[in-house]
Amino acid sequence: MKGLILIMDGMGDRPIKELGNKTPLEAANTPNMDKMAAEGITGIMDSIAPGIIPGSDTAHLSILGYDPYEVYTGRGPFEANGVGVDVLPGDIAFRCNFSTADENLVVTDRRAGRIKEGTKDIVDVLNTMVLEDYPDVKIIFKESTGHRAVLVLRGEGLSGKVSDADPKVEGNKPKEVKALDDSPEAAKTADILNKLVVKTYEMVKDHPVNLKRIEDGLPPANIVIPRGAGEVPTGGIDTNLDNIRDTIIDQVKNSDHDFFLINIDGADEAGHDGQTKEKKEFIEKVDEVVMSELIKLEDVYIYLTADHSTPISVKNHSGDPVPVLIRGPEVRVDDVKEFSERACAKGGLNRIRGSDVMNIMMDLMNYAHKFGA
Ligand code: ZN
Ligand code: ZN
Repeated sequence: MKGLILIMDGMGDRPIKELGNKTPLEAANTPNMDKMAAEGITGIMDSIAPGIIPGSDTAHLSILGYDPYEVYTGRGPFEANGVGVDVLPGDIAFRCNFSTADENLVVTDRRAGRIKEGTKDIVDVLNTMVLEDYPDVKIIFKESTGHRAVLVLRGEGLSGKVSDADPKVEGNKPKEVKALDDSPEAAKTADILNKLVVKTYEMVKDHPVNLKRIEDGLPPANIVIPRGAGEVPTGGIDTNLDNIRDTIIDQVKNSDHDFFLINIDGADEAGHDGQTKEKKEFIEKVDEVVMSELIKLEDVYIYLTADHSTPISVKNHSGDPVPVLIRGPEVRVDDVKEFSERACAKGGLNRIRGSDVMNIMMDLMNYAHKFGA
C-alpha cells in the first residue's frame, strides 16, 4: 500500500466579499477534488495547533511528525524572512555565522566567541560590498541573533545549488564553495561566494567593533561564512503542473518508496499578493491538470490538504485551519461531498493537528504498531 500527501501551499483562506463570501477554494470549480471528498473521509487541520500561524517549513515538519518547536532551526530563505529581509523570487538566501579567522583565513572560532553585540554595525559595513567581477549582484547581509546572520544574493543567473563554506571544524579555512550541478548559474554563484567570504574578512577585520573585541581579549567577528543555500521560488503561478503530475504518477507507480509528500506552490503566492482571481484559478488548474489523473490511482491513500491558510485579506499566513481529505481503499467515507474549508469541517476526521497526519496514514496503511498489550 502506498501513501501520498499532497500539500497545496497556502490554499486555505477566509470568506471574501467579491466571491459572495466564499473562499477561493469554495468558489473554485474543482470537480475532481470534490469527487475525492465524496469518496473519502474529510476534516480540518491545524498544522501546528489552533490559532498558531505556521510557516511553510514548520507546517511541513509538523505534518511529517516532527515537533517544530524542538527540531526547527530555520533554513536560509525562511531565516531571511524571519529576520526581516524582504526576499524576492529568484533570490538565493543563506544562513551565515560570524566567525573568527586568523590572517591566513583559518577559522579559529566558528561563532566568534558567541558574539552578542555589535554585529549590526559590522553588517552596515558589509552591506556596502560590491564584488569587482560581479558588480550587478546585490549583496544583502542581515544580522540575526548572536553570531548568526543571513545573506541574500540578488541578480541574474544565480543558483541555490552550491555547497557550504562552513568548515564545520575549527582550525580549517572556510571550505571552497562548489557548484552542485553543471549549470553556469551554480558555477557563478559558487565563485561569488568564494570571493565574498574573503572580502568579508578584508572589509571588517579592522572594524571598530572588532578592534574593541581584540582589545578586550575576545575573538573578533571578522569573517562571515555562509551555508544552507536556498532559492526563493520564482513564483508558483509558473509551477509546471504537468511535470508535477507526471512525476507523482511515475513515482507512485514505479518507485520502491511507500510514502510521498508533494508540495504544490502557487496558491500561497497568490495569497501573499492579494490576488483573488489568480488564487481561485490556480486551484482550478491544479484540479484540472493534477487531480484529474491522481483520482485514477487505486490502492493508494491520498491525503490532500494545505500547509496553512494564506488569506487574500491578510496577504500572509494565518492560523485558520485548512481542509483535509483522505481517499483510499478502507477509509470510513463520510457525507461530505465538497472539498473546502467549511464543507470539510463537517467531515468524519473532525479537527486534527499536523502531528496526527503520519499516525493516521500509517494506521490506515497498516504500518502502525500497537501501543500496549
Ligand atoms: Zn506554505
Ligand atoms: Zn507563504
